[in-house]
Amino acid sequence: MEWGTALKTAINNKIIELTAKIAIGIEIDDVDIRIAVGSLRLPAMRSAIHRAARKLVIDREGILRCGICNKGPFTRKGLYLHLTRVHRYDIAKRVEEEYVEFSNLIENKSP
Ligand SMILES: [Zn+2]
Repeated sequence: MEWGTALKTAINNKIIELTAKIAIGIEIDDVDIRIAVGSLRLPAMRSAIHRAARKLVIDREGILRCGICNKGPFTRKGLYLHLTRVHRYDIAKRVEEEYVEFSNLIENKSP
């Protein structure tokens, strides 16, 4: 039970980290997502991470602000640290929402 919780937290941490990286414009490899969630969940998680990441940054002519609390301006590294330190829970929640939405979409398409 405790092991399961620790594992879930580790996966969440990895996903949060990957989402924040995409938000600041770092390309991530599918392998990184697959390691965290497995092959089966890769397509839905890839979509969820990218959709969530897009909303984490406000980029006005290269001036970066936080898409959640509007703080800034930040450097790319500064925004990454802000997101992963201040908004861990928000990011996890947003990715989860996008993930569920994607999964429902796929299910509804099936006959
Ligand atoms: Zn913020």
